[in-house]
Amino acid sequence: MSQSRHLLAIDQGTTSSRAILFDAEGRVLGQAQRELTQHYPREGWVEHDPEEIWAGVLAVAREALARAGVAPSELAAIGITNQRETTLLWERESGEVLHRAIVWQDRRTAELCARLAAEGLEERVRAATGLVIDPYFSATKLAWLLDHLPQARTRAERGELCFGTVDSFLLFRLTGGRVHATDPANASRTMLFDIHRRCWDEELLRALRIPPALLPEVRPNAGEFGVSVKELLGAPVPIAGMAGDQQAASFGQACFAPGTLKSTYGTGCFLLFNTGDRPVASDNRLLTTIAWQLDGQVTYALEGSIFIAGAAIQWLRDGLGVLREAAESEALARSVPDTGGVVFVPAFTGLGAPHWDAEARGAVLGLTRGTTRAHIVRAALEAVCYQTADLIAAMGEDARRAGAALPTELRVDGGMVANDWLCQYLADVLDRPVDRPRVIETTALGAAYLAGLACGIYPSLDAIAARWQRERRFEPAMAEEVRRARLDMWADAVRRVRSGSGRER
Ligand code: ADP
Repeated sequence: MSQSRHLLAIDQGTTSSRAILFDAEGRVLGQAQRELTQHYPREGWVEHDPEEIWAGVLAVAREALARAGVAPSELAAIGITNQRETTLLWERESGEVLHRAIVWQDRRTAELCARLAAEGLEERVRAATGLVIDPYFSATKLAWLLDHLPQARTRAERGELCFGTVDSFLLFRLTGGRVHATDPANASRTMLFDIHRRCWDEELLRALRIPPALLPEVRPNAGEFGVSVKELLGAPVPIAGMAGDQQAASFGQACFAPGTLKSTYGTGCFLLFNTGDRPVASDNRLLTTIAWQLDGQVTYALEGSIFIAGAAIQWLRDGLGVLREAAESEALARSVPDTGGVVFVPAFTGLGAPHWDAEARGAVLGLTRGTTRAHIVRAALEAVCYQTADLIAAMGEDARRAGAALPTELRVDGGMVANDWLCQYLADVLDRPVDRPRVIETTALGAAYLAGLACGIYPSLDAIAARWQRERRFEPAMAEEVRRARLDMWADAVRRVRSGSGRER
């Protein structure tokens, strides 16, 4: 094996595939990115072409190496991170896919989910997988494929087919069909994986008529996953780290201690709260998930998401046309002392945790003749912060009840956190420090760190944590009564947009 200390992260996301080459210090040596076509064959359906995913991943991996002027033989290992839950089915023998990938956003299995809930499976799903029954997760997407593709179930029973999320698919292709495996972080988003016993759940497999022969082997997040076929990159390279995107971002943010918390602000926003070696069941319908498993040691997390974060800014730009570019939102927010009583609830696609109201829709409340675009833009940014506050409050409640470590400071990343005003307001309404790291590419970095941990570049988690560098800390500076009043105003606005079909809190 080479003496190299370079790590290649493959980050296969929803809208693009990226590859970033890191040195052992976590510095970016080269990167490449390719957009991914979104297919919308019907209302509510979202698909990706697996061959486009594969070709794109290979291309960006080669391109990142070329740009950095690094030979493939100089790579210590590859780490893979990916859009989670997206579901693929392929032939074990040929590697040929049977259908386009069904993307996590796809809602085609809503009816099947309703049926599972009616059959009383909600509690089993929650207890075993830490999730709620929802089309979002892989299980019902896989069931749909088995139900709709000719002979698929029979062939699956004979062991001729492989199911996988994007990580498994890439691993299978990279290893020339030799390895069919996944990791516990990705597995825990399938709604088929028992996060306590760490095995596929027989009862859920039976309920969805999923033959176990289809399923990938689950291996720890850092370790041996296989070696890439020489022809692909020009040299055989071990694949040594794997995790779904949000877990990888947490790892890249070095959120290793119980109580640590990261939030990624892109189109939507994802919060992951490390609860240590104990899975914490949520009373607030947050998701309980495996953050990662290193050797036999499992770390759990509570997860909450905000559907619309940067997307609200996109909408102000593209839908309303009140912004020329997203970055302009910062100066506009600063230009007014407050929103003038305007509250923007961006429930475009319903409200997620802790409200869970799929029927709620967005609203801009409190408009007067004095309202300007600056007020509305500021209200959109504030809404992201209030929703984060709601999630962290829910996480804190769940942790307190379980006797787990309480949330500490918040580490942030994602495209939106370039906005200093947003970070400061976040610290203010959360009443806790917000830390922005120097390396914002935390998802890819997390995958590289996992691979580097496995191949000995990093001797321990402490060695990785020591590399995490703060670019800037935002300290809370808002008077408590102002903070309270604003959060009350937000809570009142949320009450007003609720459809009544959601869960009362
Ligand atoms: P994703 O990975 O989900 O595509 P990114 O992490 O690239 O998203 O972040 C892009 C999002 O952040 C967009 O929705 C954009 O509107 C928003 N955004 C980018 N820059 C800013 C900014 N300075 N202020 C507010 N929002 C921003």
